[in-house]
Amino acid sequence: MENKSILIIYTGGTIGMVQKNGRGALAPVRFDQIADEVPEIRRLGCHLEAIAFNPPIDSSDMSPKTWARLAKMIQRNYSKFDGFVVLHGTDTMAYTASALSYMLENLDKPVVMTGSQLPIGVLRTDGKENLITAIEIAAAQDNGMAIVPEVSVYFDNKLYRGNRITKRHADHFSAFDSVNYPILAKAGVDIKFFHENIYHSEKKGILKISPNFDDHVVILKFFPGMNREIFEQILCMPAIKGVVLETFGSGNVQTASWLLRAVRKALRRNVICVNVTQCQGGTVKMGQYQTSRELKKMGVISGKDMTTEAAVTKLMFLLGQGLGLDDIKLHLRKNLSGEISE
Ligand code: ASP
Repeated sequence: MENKSILIIYTGGTIGMVQKNGRGALAPVRFDQIADEVPEIRRLGCHLEAIAFNPPIDSSDMSPKTWARLAKMIQRNYSKFDGFVVLHGTDTMAYTASALSYMLENLDKPVVMTGSQLPIGVLRTDGKENLITAIEIAAAQDNGMAIVPEVSVYFDNKLYRGNRITKRHADHFSAFDSVNYPILAKAGVDIKFFHENIYHSEKKGILKISPNFDDHVVILKFFPGMNREIFEQILCMPAIKGVVLETFGSGNVQTASWLLRAVRKALRRNVICVNVTQCQGGTVKMGQYQTSRELKKMGVISGKDMTTEAAVTKLMFLLGQGLGLDDIKLHLRKNLSGEISE
């Protein structure tokens, strides 16, 4: 940890807010002076530098453009630092973490994302602990090799794989869950790393980024009583290239023939349809019930145990790579960076 150099990138979000003179409205902290706000980080013994999005962005305003901007910041600074801490609003952290995990090819250094539920400038903030431990994790090495060389999210004493999380709570300090994949580390008296859960990119070589995403996609969440006309109209919109179907249980939908016809028509227009569950955990098993057998036969792709966030960003990413339809479908089923169990 001593002598390791870490770059902190502040994109925006609650963590970076302080009250001027301890009172009044919250305003973004100057991140080049982060050590003045959190003097404890000086005691870590790392060389720390900080850069910030100017102006900071509430994570609701994140988009493929800002994901790419973030990836480029990491790429530009890659050789100079041992690890990266990305401070980000919690609301869409799961999407950015997933997008980054696909964009950063050959990653062999830690990119630890974190944020907080309470601003760093308020007394009971969770932001200080999140920031301090995220820096420790970004600097952690074993025999000169990064212990967590993947895009991870540290929050409330737990380190998660970034493309496996979902924001589960709007108020609790424990805001995230990763139901389908175990945690990578737990911070108690010491930080205990679960090495067997940590992802190591198979590809070796210099860091490459692929910053293109195609946003001609939609997420359709099924519910009983869904309106036929609305469903059909969404699926036949000419601009759509990909759909994430958020289905019931293990991948099931209503058996109404108009619904299946609408999906079939979309597939015939080469719209890619991926099936993920709207349950908090578990996996899609198309064909297990009558209500998903037809989807499988038609050519809907099983998103297996991917979260909706991981699936929609993966779809946008693959559509943005200029691949043919068959290649996109192939990669959707396969593991890119630990987001899906094969
Ligand atoms: N709205 C904020 C954001 O996501 C909330 C947070 O920082 O947690 O940017």
